[in-house]
Amino acid sequence: MNLIIMGAPGSGKGTQAALICKTHDIPHISTGDLLRKNIADGTDLGKQAKAYMDAGKLVPDELVIALLKNRIEQADCAKGFLLDGFPRTKAQADALGGITTIDVALNLVTDLNKLADRMASRRVCLKCGYTTSAQDAPDGICKACGDKLVIRDDDKREVVENRLKVYEQNTAPLVDYYNNKGLLKNIDGMQSIEQVNQAIEAALK
Ligand code: AMP
Repeated sequence: MNLIIMGAPGSGKGTQAALICKTHDIPHISTGDLLRKNIADGTDLGKQAKAYMDAGKLVPDELVIALLKNRIEQADCAKGFLLDGFPRTKAQADALGGITTIDVALNLVTDLNKLADRMASRRVCLKCGYTTSAQDAPDGICKACGDKLVIRDDDKREVVENRLKVYEQNTAPLVDYYNNKGLLKNIDGMQSIEQVNQAIEAALK
């Protein structure tokens, strides 16, 4: 099963992706996580990507497509995978179509006006990608691996606004792109984590 999960920044893609991947035992491929790992490791790609990410802009297509292609070609993806945060542009979607086939594109439908608050309280683990909120992790420790949780550089209010704008301009049109291919499943993303997960599993049956 080759899946995509789409939705605005802060829509809960990462949280839902982790649950889906656990249930179906497939790798969770988040280009955002891969890029943040490259930044933490000080790679050339990380150095090139950081300024774009800190400004809430998209990293250039050619860099992200190469990163994704390389990841998808690894052996663990042979049994299926879930893409989180990719594709984000039509050029990326076209490139993806040339690399592999997609079975379902899940789309988390959310109220964009409420997402800035969600992102302000988001806390992430840079080591394993675990995502939670300040309210759910008051000790600032990752429940998955025990490392410390941090606020993402691009979750600052002034950057969040730009990310939502970039989403509307570049990524929202991909909803139609996958709908036209008959692959889209819309999910109400404003429900509880549990309810969203149940709706996703029902859509995947
Ligand atoms: P995310 O963790 O998915 O919210 O991604 C965080 C940031 O990484 C984005 O705001 C972009 O700067 C960059 N990024 C992640 N995935 C992509 C992608 N597919 N195309 C371009 N930039 C990306």
